[in-house]
Amino acid sequence: MKAPRCIECGRKAALESGDAVYPHRPDLFRQWFWVCVCGARVGCHKGTKSALGNPCGPETAKARGLAHAAFDPLWRRKVELGFPKGPSRDAAYVWLCGEMAPTFADMTRATCHISMMTREQALLVVTICRPFADKVAQARAFERETNRNPRDPRQRLGVVA
Ligand SMILES: [Zn+2]
Repeated sequence: MKAPRCIECGRKAALESGDAVYPHRPDLFRQWFWVCVCGARVGCHKGTKSALGNPCGPETAKARGLAHAAFDPLWRRKVELGFPKGPSRDAAYVWLCGEMAPTFADMTRATCHISMMTREQALLVVTICRPFADKVAQARAFERETNRNPRDPRQRLGVVA
């Protein structure tokens, strides 16, 4: 099992069980976590000891969460339109990698994954994706609006979704 490197301090993380890392979370007792001496941590793919990414601290974890909230709607929209999930997400990451390259020249498709990003990188993902995520939300709102039958007074009043 290859130990992932901490994104905060660069040291190698150690494998720990969920009951040691989160003693108040019985739901996590049977899962594994990679923990750095600096306190950074990351979970594992369900049922494995394979890290989900690089361990990080709470600020980076928060930024990664924001990055997912801005990035995921873009490829999920394609899935809604009928494109397959895996290739849709992969294509979105290829695009994201290209958009980030001017700022982070060492970023490659292999390292361009939100779960491997620093806080600074994750926040750039938000900046890059937010305008597109807003447009996706607008498109969705437009579709909801125009799918209503304006001649049906109940729908016009928003009684029926
Ligand atoms: Zn560390």
